[in-house]
Amino acid sequence: MNPDENLSRREFLAASSIALGAAAAVGSKASAAAAAEPAKLALHGGAKAVVERLPKLVRWGGPEKGRLDAMLGQDTLFYWKGPQTTLLLDRFRKICPLPQAMSCSSGTAALHIAVAAAGIAPGDEVITSPITDIGTVIGVLFQQAVPVFADLGRNTYNLDPADVERRITPRTKAIIAVHLAGNPCDLDALKSIAARHKLVLIEDCAQAWGALRGGKPIGTEGDVACFSLQNSKHVTCGDGGVVASGDPAIGRKLQQFGDKGMDRLGKGGLFETFATNYRMSEPQAAVAAAQMERVESIVETRSRLGRLLSDELAGVKGVELPRIRDEDRCSFWFYMLRVRPEALRCDRTEFVKAIAAEGAPASEGYIPVPLYGNPVFQNHGFFAGRWPLKEMGLTDMDYTKVSCPEAESILKTCFRLTIHEGMTESYVRSMAAAVRKVADHYAS
Ligand SMILES: *Cc1c(COP(=O)(O)O)cnc(C)c1O
Repeated sequence: MNPDENLSRREFLAASSIALGAAAAVGSKASAAAAAEPAKLALHGGAKAVVERLPKLVRWGGPEKGRLDAMLGQDTLFYWKGPQTTLLLDRFRKICPLPQAMSCSSGTAALHIAVAAAGIAPGDEVITSPITDIGTVIGVLFQQAVPVFADLGRNTYNLDPADVERRITPRTKAIIAVHLAGNPCDLDALKSIAARHKLVLIEDCAQAWGALRGGKPIGTEGDVACFSLQNSKHVTCGDGGVVASGDPAIGRKLQQFGDKGMDRLGKGGLFETFATNYRMSEPQAAVAAAQMERVESIVETRSRLGRLLSDELAGVKGVELPRIRDEDRCSFWFYMLRVRPEALRCDRTEFVKAIAAEGAPASEGYIPVPLYGNPVFQNHGFFAGRWPLKEMGLTDMDYTKVSCPEAESILKTCFRLTIHEGMTESYVRSMAAAVRKVADHYAS
């Protein structure tokens, strides 16, 4: 027998009596005294705040099987005019209504295609976030352009438009706005900066499937939208991506930059541009097409649970909550908070360990360092240990000198709680109770 099951009844009773005690505290001297008694942390042998089991997430099933069956009945599995790819892109456009869309092998591929199709040239600068997957900038570097990292908002963890503007130079050609954890960036400000400086605005929506900015689908405000279907994202086909645009000049090129430079929309035959092969085959497209039908309900649930968690955590001492505008819908790919070390009598490691001990799915930090802090950037060793662009004098970028103080501070103080569509509201309330209990214990 699982020892957790053995304990759960006793823990449940203990936890609910604490909750009852707190609820009845007003007007009852006895329970007021009980409530004033701080609950013993699970880390120190007390009862856990989370007694429900983390519900198992079912991510695929009948609809995916149906599409895979249909796919196996085809006599070709090639993407071009393939029925699964066609269905995937039709369904994608219902989520993100952009006329030109191309399926591809990953989110990294989508971003590389976007940068290439936008005409980013050697030596051009592309401003983006230092807290993201490295896939955001892989394509920038492969096109011999220069990622320039700008600082972030303290509680949005997204690009700070004022800092973006400060980092613009005559070489700046694009901004890649990363909607971290699915929280929409300040697109009004970024769009107006892009318009004023004639920059291309690329949206990295890898974590933002189903998110809305105002009422608008994420990806529809910039010039190009890039999505990932990698396994860790909330919809997936194992590995895959979609890149899309409403700009006819860019949109027309998405297909050829994902397909060896061959313009299948035009005459074909000749290789007009230099590109790589980022095609997605029909088996992936079959699974991805089925997953598109799940986006709305997955994100509706995640958004409701994430909002609930924020409501439940409002006013908790020692932590800072993520800032999500009321009018936006965040996909809560994760729920990230920050500790306020000056308001706690413990460090982040102990704080998060105590929350996890309460039974809540909590983990410390996100990526270990901002992108520019990684060895490959610090050594400028992108191409066989060298960076031809710098050797040729086309950039004076020195990643050892880059500083984004807020991003660095975010990574030193952040921790994440899991939100997923399999969770119940009561589970999320108990997660919040875990954080509250630990924060009460350590608040100074
Ligand atoms: C996952 C991710 C990517 C890269 O997507 P892959 O499909 O893994 O290549 C890019 N940007 C962000 C923000 C991501 O989360």
